[in-house]
Amino acid sequence: MLFPWNTEALNPPFGDPGFLVANSYTGRALIFDLGDLHQLAARKLLQASHIFISHAHIDHLVGFDQLLRLTLNRPRHLHIYGPPGIIAIIGHKLQGYVWNLTAHYELVITAYAVHPKKLEQCSFACSDKFKPGPTTTTVKNGPVIFSDPDFSINAATLDHGTSCLAFTLHETRQVNFRPEVLKQLQLAPGPWLTKLRQFLQSPKPETAAIIRIPGRNRDYTVKEIAAEIALIKPGNKIAYVTDIGFTPENLEKLIPLISGADLLLCEAAFLDSAADKARSSRHLTASQAGEIARRAGVKRLKLFHFSPRHHDLEPDFYREAAQYFSGPIS
Ligand SMILES: [Zn+2]
Ligand SMILES: [Zn+2]
Repeated sequence: MLFPWNTEALNPPFGDPGFLVANSYTGRALIFDLGDLHQLAARKLLQASHIFISHAHIDHLVGFDQLLRLTLNRPRHLHIYGPPGIIAIIGHKLQGYVWNLTAHYELVITAYAVHPKKLEQCSFACSDKFKPGPTTTTVKNGPVIFSDPDFSINAATLDHGTSCLAFTLHETRQVNFRPEVLKQLQLAPGPWLTKLRQFLQSPKPETAAIIRIPGRNRDYTVKEIAAEIALIKPGNKIAYVTDIGFTPENLEKLIPLISGADLLLCEAAFLDSAADKARSSRHLTASQAGEIARRAGVKRLKLFHFSPRHHDLEPDFYREAAQYFSGPIS
């Protein structure tokens, strides 16, 4: 299957955490956590419109000011998702500067607080000195926090002594039409084909919906016509997990969320020799990251967020994870 998502760590594994995840076909990009951003080219950061913050510890949010500096005088709308409290935190950060000369700037930032059963949102416009607008609340059924025609993002709230979000990116299923069959059946592409693609790409495909094809004297159901002309592949799934305790409660929520991911980006703060430290600080060891990857049946594992206390032992992280997970590890 095609894997169009390019995942780039914001820093080497002993540096601040976070990834830029960019789609090489559409040019769209997301950022998971805002650790220090100096290592990443500005043009790459500027691709990102949606940012997902696991929690507001400083190593996961210190890059916010850099991103703000970079986007300030551009006509952008940044969407920032995070755990409960993120709206006030973003608001306080924005109020930490003076905005008397920027009334003509168009940047708008919308912050979204992800609760287990609701989503709160609040926008801050540069033209209004980033004063908070009204906060609105929507009911959230299930894990989806964002979706558009290309992909959706799911989240689970885990425990790191504070609420910490794990995220999964679900690429919309890939739908292609077989050109030779279209030709053979003398079916000319048109709006009906676009409509059929939309039906097939929706999270719950409406297989009984009716498709009218110009020039045909009967209607078809989506299921009927798709069986003849469509090639459907499941979209890719990428999981981002960081700063969680290896507890039964966390694993019970996490494993279903990340199950079967094509790529798991997973924190591995400590080695087995510091397992006590991992437990007390509610972080994972490399072994635990490997065990999570195995239990979730993911295809590939990428480790990050290594504690500087093990700075000369990088190969040990991969070795310890490989004792539990037999797939590719980097
Ligand atoms: Zn943390
Ligand atoms: Zn951290």
